[in-house]
Amino acid sequence: MNIAFEIIVDDGIMSCLHESCGRIDKVWLPFEIRGADRGLKPHLYCTRCGAIKSISTEKPKKTTYYINSLSKIDKRVVPLTKVQVRLIVKELEHIEDFEDPYSMTREIQEKIFITVVKKYCRVSEAYLASMLN
Ligand SMILES: [Zn+2]
Repeated sequence: MNIAFEIIVDDGIMSCLHESCGRIDKVWLPFEIRGADRGLKPHLYCTRCGAIKSISTEKPKKTTYYINSLSKIDKRVVPLTKVQVRLIVKELEHIEDFEDPYSMTREIQEKIFITVVKKYCRVSEAYLASMLN
């Protein structure tokens, strides 16, 4: 394996520390709030990995916020064992860029959270969504 290739692989595994381009270099891209088109807006991007910085007003939350919200699940409504909780936590903690302010938005986080929880226990999407508000 040559050195150049190894660097690319390393880059893919390690999270980028992100360095924003200057204000002048901003790129005009479509902007939407929860699926509703809001026209074009200038976006910052990372000069290292090229990721476009999310300008959503709904900033991503820490993984712990979602893990804590699991404790709000009413066990009489949704039977949730410690093993299930552990599996959900493990999966959430391993999602790359889950807290990344560049590529992640609250909306995407919620979708991921709901998908992961539903994988391990029988619970309705509406119930989980109500828990996050
Ligand atoms: Zn970056």
